[in-house]
Amino acid sequence: MSRVLRPHQSRIVERLRESLATGHRRPMVQAPTGAGKTVVAGAIVRGALAKGKRVLFVVPALSLIDQTVRSFWAEGIRDVGVIQGAHPMTDASKPVQVASIQTLQRRAIPRFDIVVIDEAHRWFEMLGLWMGSPDWATVPFVGLSATPWTRGLGKFYDDLISVTTTASLIEGGYLSPFRVYVPSHPDLTGVRTVAGDYHEGDLGEAMNKPALVADVVQTWLQRGENRPTFIFGVDRAHAKNLQAQFEAAGVPTGYIDAYTKADEREVLFRRFTSGELTAIASVGCLTTGVDLDVRCIVLARPTKSEMLFVQIIGRGLRTAPGKDDLLVLDHSDTHLRLGFVTDIHHDVLDDGRERQKREAKAKPEAMPKECPSCSFLKPLKAPKCPACGFKPERQSEVQCDDGDLVEMTPKRARASTIEKESLFGQLKHVARRRNYSEGWAAHKFRELTGVWPDRYHNAPLVEPTAFVLSWIKSRQIAYIKTRGRSHAHAAE
Ligand SMILES: [Zn+2]
Repeated sequence: MSRVLRPHQSRIVERLRESLATGHRRPMVQAPTGAGKTVVAGAIVRGALAKGKRVLFVVPALSLIDQTVRSFWAEGIRDVGVIQGAHPMTDASKPVQVASIQTLQRRAIPRFDIVVIDEAHRWFEMLGLWMGSPDWATVPFVGLSATPWTRGLGKFYDDLISVTTTASLIEGGYLSPFRVYVPSHPDLTGVRTVAGDYHEGDLGEAMNKPALVADVVQTWLQRGENRPTFIFGVDRAHAKNLQAQFEAAGVPTGYIDAYTKADEREVLFRRFTSGELTAIASVGCLTTGVDLDVRCIVLARPTKSEMLFVQIIGRGLRTAPGKDDLLVLDHSDTHLRLGFVTDIHHDVLDDGRERQKREAKAKPEAMPKECPSCSFLKPLKAPKCPACGFKPERQSEVQCDDGDLVEMTPKRARASTIEKESLFGQLKHVARRRNYSEGWAAHKFRELTGVWPDRYHNAPLVEPTAFVLSWIKSRQIAYIKTRGRSHAHAAE
């Protein structure tokens, strides 16, 4: 079977070929969750096999071996052996071998023509030694990851192949759109940060509180639309408690973590797929290797890690018949910290020196905002809430009829007393010159600032600034257009 690649998938394969042809030996392929990484992996392996090359495919955990072999089978690649203890598929003569890092760490690695490192954002010391060893210098190592943003990866990989983004995959219909609610805001005071993310013990304590857990369940009952749901908790205790509370509320909920045995996982996933289970509770780190029809994600695991965040939301972005979107109920403030997953994208690998630049990136004004009425997370600059239609009273934005948006920055809106006095002085100046009443100036003042100019009636006249003049003009144009339109209607 030779599957037809989607446009972005063939672009990835082409770019990889180019990269190797131009002398790169350590290219990293970024394929966003849902971009069809296993299809791309299949295409890479088939391409190598067609040239008579032997491929070593490396996964970061023993538990991923069988799943990887199955996905190769689904891609029509059957000549596969496994390097792992006494695995029944052990057969060193096969041209494709699947192995885990853990196994390779313990033995001499036989010769291959190409090495593919899956989930390459998960870094192991052993990889650095292996990739840096002179014996392997000419052998291509291809990294595959949805989120190759681990600090320092750029020291080991020499090219980043990134041809598409989550946003454009959603636009193209390859991934599901999503909606986010941010119904509660946990108090994380005192939670320490370790190695770039919250200290798990501190976090578990902060999040595994009866009121918070009850709120997670309540919100889901209210907003979850009974959708097939993945619930992400901080640690095992928290995830188990979430499971118990969902169960207590009558929602059939399973539980899974890294210690769940492969056969139990299969049973759980089957029950979830059949609808017998509505939800599965899990820990935040358990995000790879699950490809179910998830339509709601409950995020109760605060994180500072873009990688973890993107991997978690990615669990729900797969499209499915009858699925309009993914619903995200974020109880962790992660969206308010990191923005939407579609805002997260990196064009270069981190070489370990990028950190400051990255941390400086988070700008509050560039973050999505919560609707004060329904807690829906609004995209930037949405004037009213797309979910409930609520429009905050904001004098700071003036929508003109011709579609221009005269925007006052929050800084301008929070003008100081002196600025307000000056503003009223300018408006009075315009009124005087144009023979308008002082009432006109007061009304304009209120339109701009949201308050009456009571305190500033004695403001001295001030020559109006260009901003004030153009704002007045835009209001007049809007007014005339409105009148013109109502006259036209009247004439019909
Ligand atoms: Zn709303």
